[in-house]
Amino acid sequence: MLKKLVLFDIDGTLLLTSNINRQTLIDALVAVYGTEGSARSHSFAGKMDSVIIYEVLKQAGLNDDHITEKFTTVKQTYIDLLRTQLRPEDVMLMKGIPELLLALSEKKDVVLGLLTGNFEGSGRNKLELPALNHFFPFGAFADDAYHRNELPAIAIQRAYAMTGKKFKAEEVVIIGDTEHDINCARAIQARCIAVATGTYSVEQLSAHCPDALFGDFSDTEQVIDCIENI
Ligand SMILES: [Mg+2]
Repeated sequence: MLKKLVLFDIDGTLLLTSNINRQTLIDALVAVYGTEGSARSHSFAGKMDSVIIYEVLKQAGLNDDHITEKFTTVKQTYIDLLRTQLRPEDVMLMKGIPELLLALSEKKDVVLGLLTGNFEGSGRNKLELPALNHFFPFGAFADDAYHRNELPAIAIQRAYAMTGKKFKAEEVVIIGDTEHDINCARAIQARCIAVATGTYSVEQLSAHCPDALFGDFSDTEQVIDCIENI
């Protein structure tokens, strides 16, 4: 019997990418809009890719209509650039992640999915190089909604389509490295495990009251125990 739907964020939680990720977005913005806006210094942590694009371009004075008009083009340009430019050495897996995913994937009562601000194309590109895609048969992405808080319901729906099990909010565990991951779990009263392997420290995450908090996921048994009992 399925007991837990475990949804992982990508950046800062499963892996980190080198500056090539930001640079390819900058290159795509310049190619499509003629400006990078504030993309060089803007905080990307925990934000939806689509939100980032609107925010950085608005800071360069572009209006919503202008951004929307070429949004599909800039999204595809960014995904294509990332696919051709991302190298294995640009992707750093977070401590304990391969072991944790392997252990979770062997559990018959756990369903794994993604819940990320990445577009599916760019997120899957990042997971492809360290061969993590097969752990995640489905996910909820920036393509699916503009606000991150809408993603948990979409992920639950996709889990239902795949497994036939309608997970209740308390059976859903959202795992991420920012306050935005914690907030989107709260939005549906799902459980949240925060991990300080991204840009937020343990102290900063603690202030947002996740249900559980780890410095990293190096202790596989402890993390699994937490997921099962949270
Ligand atoms: Mg993240």
